[in-house]
Amino acid sequence: MKHESKTLLSCRGVVKGWGDTVALDGFDLELNEGSLLALLGPSGCGKTTALRSMAGLERPSAGEVWVGERLVAGKGTWVRPEERRIGMVFQDWALFPHLDVWSNVAFGCHGRERERRVGEVLELVHLIGFEHRMPHELSGGQQQRVALARALAPSPEVVLLDEPFSNLDASLRAQVRAEVRTVLHEARATAIFVTHDQEEALSIADNLAVMTHGRVIQTGSPHAVYGAPAHRLVAGMVGEANFLPGEVSSGLAVTPVGKVLAPGLSDGPVDIMIRPETVHLDRAQEGSARIIDAEFYGHDQLVRARLKDGTLLDVRLLGPRPDLTIGARVDVRLTAPVHFFRADSAVAVSPYCGIVTSDSPQAPATSDRA
Ligand code: ATP
Repeated sequence: MKHESKTLLSCRGVVKGWGDTVALDGFDLELNEGSLLALLGPSGCGKTTALRSMAGLERPSAGEVWVGERLVAGKGTWVRPEERRIGMVFQDWALFPHLDVWSNVAFGCHGRERERRVGEVLELVHLIGFEHRMPHELSGGQQQRVALARALAPSPEVVLLDEPFSNLDASLRAQVRAEVRTVLHEARATAIFVTHDQEEALSIADNLAVMTHGRVIQTGSPHAVYGAPAHRLVAGMVGEANFLPGEVSSGLAVTPVGKVLAPGLSDGPVDIMIRPETVHLDRAQEGSARIIDAEFYGHDQLVRARLKDGTLLDVRLLGPRPDLTIGARVDVRLTAPVHFFRADSAVAVSPYCGIVTSDSPQAPATSDRA
């Protein structure tokens, strides 16, 4: 099968399991040249198994893995890991403790160009002058850069990074991941990194692939996935999400935050998804909601409001709002359209957003528990 020239790595219907455990269950992924993709998903969803299957460290029981136009696994083909032109950076970086920086980086390089290439990648990761240090004489961030240099040195087609930042202190993490991103872009590397940290995925990847139960459920740019989550799990994994029940009738959804225009949506129960930062609260004596909790973080504030019908709504507000004390009554206003999900389905009614009607007093409630 001929691949488009831009696709550097492709997994099609990959299946892998052990006994009763299914780690990959029809795993599909396409990676374009030069892109940095974050594979995001909850613990145990199969992220590491996916990377290991791409690298040739696991043998899938079904499906295909392609590197560029070369089939490396599937249809009776099996290409060994060292022949796949894939570099890997492991969670613990796996540096050789008895080898210095230069020898660690040179490990996978052969031939006359070896000396020059090692110098080139050490320069790329800003470790010139550290050639003769041993791994234990380096900081965590520096060790991370040696691991990256070692993966890049043989000029692989694709670099795979498995939770590459999880060994770093929170204070160093943001800095090192920004550096790694720069290095990968400067090297024009095509890379996938595994993470279960949504902030990490959103902040450094060009593209996201969100996984659950052994398969990818949504791919796209961080903005696209955040802005239009196709699945309930994606909405919660990429950002924060409130799900509120509603009932659609004749193109209008009655919900705890008001009536939402839903032209074309068939009648029946739905859930609406509201991002906490798209809610505005105004203090109002006769307000229809009440603040029941408030956490102040300095740069923003997380407030929980109980709506008139008892539904809880998490709200993220920028900056200090000392007026929003626990017990205060507020009016609730949405600053962005809501997303619809069918009540009996995890999949978004897509692409479908609705706006709360302006004449809609929010919380058309049956009881006043607020
Ligand atoms: P985490 O984020 O916790 O690292 P993950 O998404 O990377 O998790 P995997 O490590 O790929 O998940 O594991 C997927 C599933 O496969 C899990 O249920 C795990 O226990 C199982 N699994 C992984 N490797 C093996 C193995 N060698 N033998 C048996 N089961 C395994």
